[in-house]
Amino acid sequence: MSQVSALLDGIASGAVRIVDLTQPLSESTPVIQLPAPFANTPGLSREEISRYDDRGPAWAWYTLTIGEHVGTHTDAPIHWVTGQDSLDIAAVPASRLVGPACVIDRTAETEAAGGDYLLTVSDIEAWEAEHGRIPDGAWVLLRTGWQSRAHDQDAFLNVGPDGPRTPGPDVEASRWLSCARDIAGFGTETVGIDAGSAGGMDPPFPLHNLLLGAGRLGLTQLANLHELPETGAMILVCPLKLVGGTGSPSRVLAFVPGE
Ligand code: MN
Repeated sequence: MSQVSALLDGIASGAVRIVDLTQPLSESTPVIQLPAPFANTPGLSREEISRYDDRGPAWAWYTLTIGEHVGTHTDAPIHWVTGQDSLDIAAVPASRLVGPACVIDRTAETEAAGGDYLLTVSDIEAWEAEHGRIPDGAWVLLRTGWQSRAHDQDAFLNVGPDGPRTPGPDVEASRWLSCARDIAGFGTETVGIDAGSAGGMDPPFPLHNLLLGAGRLGLTQLANLHELPETGAMILVCPLKLVGGTGSPSRVLAFVPGE
């Protein structure tokens, strides 16, 4: 039996489960809000082209207006100024969009610290001590439980008097993720790959700066990370092949060994 046949047999028998890591995309999907003077992205809106009517009697279809960085989406290296000479989203090799998922569970720490929780290098090293070295081509996924807020823009963005507070890596963890291993990308449940407080770090938005500058990918607004083991799952990231795109809303699936 081929390895592809074995995978398909596993899916058919339930030995391999498919977990959808994608948040629903709608007009109410939370969207990042940058402070003035920065320009903001639109969320999703739809305009009807026809709906089984005179404009098209047997079909319905819509025109979409949406920012590249809305909902569950992928950040291409060219999204950040440090990666501007690297890959657009269409140029990312398909082999980088499939890989082992390494899930770092910091749900309890995030519940304790709220949006102030920051992932550190020692957290990642502790994960490697338990689960082994993060393999080449891996997607490192930070699980925080933040998805429980994903239906509510205010709770999800968690903007207070000192700006947004959402969990993410600190500066040194950002550097580690960008340089210490050959990961394909880093994913999170929050609205962006950086922590909410990252605008005040040095460099500002260190994960965007360093990870995308290193030609790697970001992945945001993930769902259902609690259904993944810390190792052993495979992730499939499907952004649009948008030529020149700085990112794209994406469908993201995981293949997980069954019981
Ligand atoms: Mn983005």
